[in-house]
Amino acid sequence: MRSTAVAGQRRSRGAGSAWAGVVVLLLAWLSVAASAHAGHDIPLHGLWAPAESADPGDWRGQGEPFDPTALKVFPRGPAGAWVALYPRAGEWPAATLIVVVRQPGLESVVFHSPDGGVARASSLRLEGDALAGHGRLAFQVRAPPDAGEALLLRLEPLDGIASAVGFAVQDQATYLREDARWVAFASACFGVMLAMAVVTLFFSFWLRDITFLLHTGYVLSYALIQAIQTGYAFSVLEWTLIAEAPRAWGRTATAVSVILAILFLDRFVALDRHAPRMRRLVLLLGAAVGANVLLGFLPLQPAQALARALINPLLMLAGPAVLASALVAWYHGSRYAGFFLLGWTPLLALTVLDSAQLFGALPGWSWVSGAALAAGSFEALVLSLGLAERTLGVRRDREQAHRLADIDPLTSLLNRRGLERRLDALIAAAERTGEPLTLLFLDLDRFKSLNDNFGHVEGDRALTVLADCLRAETRSRDVIGRYGGEEFLVVLPECDVDLGLQVAERIRQRLERRGIPVDPAGTPLTVSVGLAVRHRGEGVTALIERADQAMYEAKNSGRNWVALASSQPG
Ligand code: GH3
Ligand code: MG
Ligand code: MG
Repeated sequence: MRSTAVAGQRRSRGAGSAWAGVVVLLLAWLSVAASAHAGHDIPLHGLWAPAESADPGDWRGQGEPFDPTALKVFPRGPAGAWVALYPRAGEWPAATLIVVVRQPGLESVVFHSPDGGVARASSLRLEGDALAGHGRLAFQVRAPPDAGEALLLRLEPLDGIASAVGFAVQDQATYLREDARWVAFASACFGVMLAMAVVTLFFSFWLRDITFLLHTGYVLSYALIQAIQTGYAFSVLEWTLIAEAPRAWGRTATAVSVILAILFLDRFVALDRHAPRMRRLVLLLGAAVGANVLLGFLPLQPAQALARALINPLLMLAGPAVLASALVAWYHGSRYAGFFLLGWTPLLALTVLDSAQLFGALPGWSWVSGAALAAGSFEALVLSLGLAERTLGVRRDREQAHRLADIDPLTSLLNRRGLERRLDALIAAAERTGEPLTLLFLDLDRFKSLNDNFGHVEGDRALTVLADCLRAETRSRDVIGRYGGEEFLVVLPECDVDLGLQVAERIRQRLERRGIPVDPAGTPLTVSVGLAVRHRGEGVTALIERADQAMYEAKNSGRNWVALASSQPG
């Protein structure tokens, strides 16, 4: 009992500091994400207008004012949208300037340089004076613009959803600093996700537990989504295969990640036990998302159009459903649902913020996409810890079950199974060392009479009294147990016949002194003991047999007696 309580205490303190560590990590991560572009940008104001044609003459220097630093989705004309940036100071500084487009997603942007040059950039492809702006698009301004002259950009028309983008003009040093910081930050985030995916992949093979594999798949597919959305897959990794069809890859990775998240959640937090009704709902949604992916791969235009139309509503249902089922499971006592919620909530919140920005909300929060990357690695880390904790839990339960299988619940002594296992080990040791080993076989006298006179409960109490006597009269390395019914064994390692007889006698006297009546006349409960000292080469069964025989001799001698076994069995 005591050792379990101590272990429990140690465990909860360990878990407490692990949680504190996780929270510190989250804060550190988010602060890095927030500082990832705390640059010194040149103050700007902007004008924009829908573009009728791609000719820069189409831009007439007039349009709607907007704040270039805030994220905004620009409505498109037939040729996209014009964006003109002006220095708030009236004049551009005399430095090498870089125009930066933030959070471009899959946008393609054309820059019309003041000297007449044209450059085009998207996360997938660079033309002209476009720079590899990691996580951003960037253009070098070769000829310094005149005072009051605009830097003119055109956002090209898109076949998919437009991104909420922001703009900046920076000197080269600021641009390079921000660029290096972003690549380092994004690489660290992807590195953590990849490392956690590899670790859980190995564990899935070692432990033959598919839960780990689902986590690996989820982390990898989320990393792929982020690599596509931030442009990391193209501008850093240069994955040309994905660059050919980024939207199809993005949609598929999103669907796969949602399905894997659902299957992982189901196994990890045991939804069948903790939230069976929610389980049906999320599994159904997961199946619908899966069916939708297959629909999208059919070589039929209408099927593909339907798949594209359905995917977002399905995802918008699946996210909250997953969150709700984790909450229900947590409420109903699933420890691991806590891990899932901690890891997954920041991710889901940022996904929601990211979508909200597409609808014009929170234009000043330009840190959201960076934080989504950080949250991805945070999630991978927290859930890997959760999986490690679960593995430990399974092992602890198994050890506990093993221990309980060897224990007699009434007396808390070893039971027959436990006794035989320990006796086996002790006999093997005695055989090796040549030390003597003595076995006592004890059987209560007239125990049936006690039961008959005072009831089974009193009988049970008497059994625990004998157990206490055995504990009191033995050393810690001796092994005591209940062999069955009212029969007990005491194994005395490194103990010869004289010492064995002393121990047996002390036990016999101690029980008699307790004066537990077996009949209304007050006859005290006593015990008969058979003692056998092991011969060389003698095994468990033969030794017990001889001690049992001796016990019968003690009964025949009138009970309440210690008898020594003959050296030959039978
Ligand atoms: P003897 O002196 O010859 O050993 O007589 P006895 O009455 O002790 O022996 P017997 O084998 O006739 O009776 C053993 C009794 O132990 C019978 C059974 O009801 C009782 N018994 C066995 N297990 C338990 C138990 O777990 N609790 C209780 N209360 N009684 C038990
Ligand atoms: Mg008996
Ligand atoms: Mg008996």
